[in-house]
Amino acid sequence: MTATHNATLPIFARSVPGRIGHKLPSGDVPATEPTSVLKRHMLRQQAAHLPEVSEPEVVRHYVTLSTRNHHIDKDIYPLGSCTMKYNPKINDAVAELPGFAQLHPLQGEGQIQGALELMFHLEQALKAMTGMHSFTLQPPAGSSGELVGVLMMRRYHQARDDDRKVIVIPDSAHGTNPASVVMAGYQTVKVATDDRGRVDLADLRSKLSSEVAGMMLTQPNTLGLFEDHIETIAGLVHEAGGLMYMDGANLNALIGLTRPADMGFDITHINLHKTFSTPHGGGGPGSGPIGVTRQLSSYLPAPRVAQDISGVYRWDEGQAESIGRVHGHFGNFGMLVRAYAYILALGGDGLANMSRRAVLNANYLKSTLTDIYDLPYGDGTMHEFVLSGRRQKERGIKTLDIAKKLLDYGVHAPTVYFPLVVPEALMIEPTESETRSTLDRFSAILREIDGLVDSDPDGIRAAPRNTPVRRLDETTANRELDVHWMAE
Ligand SMILES: *Cc1c(COP(=O)(O)O)cnc(C)c1O
Repeated sequence: MTATHNATLPIFARSVPGRIGHKLPSGDVPATEPTSVLKRHMLRQQAAHLPEVSEPEVVRHYVTLSTRNHHIDKDIYPLGSCTMKYNPKINDAVAELPGFAQLHPLQGEGQIQGALELMFHLEQALKAMTGMHSFTLQPPAGSSGELVGVLMMRRYHQARDDDRKVIVIPDSAHGTNPASVVMAGYQTVKVATDDRGRVDLADLRSKLSSEVAGMMLTQPNTLGLFEDHIETIAGLVHEAGGLMYMDGANLNALIGLTRPADMGFDITHINLHKTFSTPHGGGGPGSGPIGVTRQLSSYLPAPRVAQDISGVYRWDEGQAESIGRVHGHFGNFGMLVRAYAYILALGGDGLANMSRRAVLNANYLKSTLTDIYDLPYGDGTMHEFVLSGRRQKERGIKTLDIAKKLLDYGVHAPTVYFPLVVPEALMIEPTESETRSTLDRFSAILREIDGLVDSDPDGIRAAPRNTPVRRLDETTANRELDVHWMAE
């Protein structure tokens, strides 16, 4: 064997026949017929081809894997719109309690009272924070919540024999918004962004009609700016007979400061994995509860958690107008446990401080960068801000290159090229988790990279050098995703 850094060896390459790293109890299910529930044809004919390694080697394998990717436990992860805040480890410990983790979704209500109680109380907390009348916890992502919300809009209009066709979406919207609208059978109508980075009211007025089923709006919007004409906007849409949907992905800016229902929204999703710190990334898991006002509550997916007068929790299936079930069981329960633990740990004041500090951190970081990076829309930044790399592009370096160069410093890049209304966008969301010194360090890195645009442009274009893989063919990586390592 050549002298290789052991950590770079895949676990199969470390395998030595007969080496063992586990000690399993003997099985308590008979292995063969006739006594076994397992039929002979179901049994493996040959032993599985598993690596034979010692326990320390297994541990090293996973620790190595964990360091090959960037994650919030390594360093700042200011990926705009994604709210990559620190996920307190206590939340995982709580979710792993056997009484939660070992439940089966088909267990009877009598055996899962604690789980139902947790879901019931989580809904109460979400109601208090949003002002909504009722919630479903079923949707397993924000995007899936959007679809549920739009299907409920549809049901609302159908109940009025009102065949509306379109949903209005700002041109700064997240891509999932138009996708959900189209999946629910509507067409999208775009509304422009004005020169302050908010919904252009004149354009909105021109797009409203009796065809409009509703409007989907992110608050604060994807430029990180508070839509300060929200009452006017909601008034106009309601006047036209439409409903207001709030994309709640940016709720981290608002808790304890204002509530979707108070601003005139009828429906909102919450990304529990963003605002309430459940680990996310790499495609999941997630949780996207939907909250609605009283007039829409009967359309919510069933079953819903209910509490009897005697205090007993049960599943309530009896919603004749419900849009039906949207998840095989009751949602990503482990995420619900983590979110509830986080909410309880912070409490009302703590959650309001969380949002205040998220806004403070974004505004502070922004103030350290705007002399160098262009800020097209800047007034009223909440929890994130969007810079433009156009000055750097004029000097020969694209935003993509800046993002790749950041990786060499061991930090994650911001979201880039979104929202589409900002050319060469760098969307930065530091979250409340980061200290001032981390923000200063991140800012210093971005300033240093700006200097390199002139002194070492080829070095930037060749970045990243310090990562396990360099620049990838991202299109092929997306289309032909291959996450398996196969033994020869
Ligand atoms: C994250 C996000 C979504 C989609 O949420 P998922 O949970 O990723 O499906 C929608 N809108 C905005 C603005 C987002 O940031």
